[in-house]
Amino acid sequence: MNLGFVGLGIMGSAMAMNLIKAGFKVTVWNRTEEKAGPLVEAGAVAASTPRAAAEASDIVFAMMATPFAVKSVRDGKDGIIAGLDSGKGYVDMSTIDAGTSKESARLSHEKGALFLEAPVAGSRKPAEDATLTIMAAGDSDLYQRSLPALEKMGSKILFLGETGNATRMKLANNLVMGGMLTALCEGLALASESGLDPLQLLEVLDSGAMTNPMFRLKGGMIAGSGGFPAAFPLKHMQKDLRLSLQLAEEVGQPLFATATVNELFKKALSEGLGDSDFAAVSKAIRK
Ligand code: NAP
Repeated sequence: MNLGFVGLGIMGSAMAMNLIKAGFKVTVWNRTEEKAGPLVEAGAVAASTPRAAAEASDIVFAMMATPFAVKSVRDGKDGIIAGLDSGKGYVDMSTIDAGTSKESARLSHEKGALFLEAPVAGSRKPAEDATLTIMAAGDSDLYQRSLPALEKMGSKILFLGETGNATRMKLANNLVMGGMLTALCEGLALASESGLDPLQLLEVLDSGAMTNPMFRLKGGMIAGSGGFPAAFPLKHMQKDLRLSLQLAEEVGQPLFATATVNELFKKALSEGLGDSDFAAVSKAIRK
């Protein structure tokens, strides 16, 4: 099976590398061409446009930053849709809104192709280790055909039904993550300002019902005085909070805490922290 991969950022480059290592023939494209270099060295073929990546593939995957980025590689004469035809599949793994995803499904179907949305949970390391959680929804035939590739990128894979369901599930997941991370940052800031050792707070949290891998992974970084190299860029966390609030508007669900957390992340963005890891939101919290 020939695969395409469009969008070689933190996640896409690691995921495409796992497809190459698994022996698939992979054609890649990225806006910033240099990022394709290591993948080409590992055996991938570089395409000149997203359309060319789709034309060379049975199934083309995309892992884009935002809904705008999805549309930028999807639409127009050089876009993915232009390279689709009957029998091909388009799998969008970006975290976006259900509306954009449904539009991708409609455009794929108009070309006689199949569509699957498949956003992921898990960051840089799970992407490298192929232990992502993949939430898929859309055309079940394409899900079945994509499984051999999805299994090389993730260790837990769920099929959630019609297009839009996986997108919504991913947003509900990330809303929880943003809130938990914010609570951790505030707890550590309060401990420090109260003259306590923040590392001891991490120890207390880790020994009770609130223990979790994210606190272990990010706690030391937040309590320490080092930098915040991005595994999950803060700008993408704010995008996910914004999209969660947009979904909440659509379904009439109040999200009291998430609305406040979003304001905090907007403040962090305005302080120039967008390309840092989302744990850098602690800088916007500390006095
Ligand atoms: P990233 O490192 O910022 O990469 C984003 C990708 O989108 C890059 O390939 C970038 O191209 C491309 N892009 C952005 N704007 C574009 C445009 N206008 N036209 C064409 N290409 C454009 O992001 P990431 O961390 O890999 O995340 C990708 C997606 O996965 C996001 O939706 C994110 O929310 C989601 N996600 C991330 C994580 C994580 O921990 N990082 C975890 C789960 C889900 P350039 O290289 O040219 O900038």
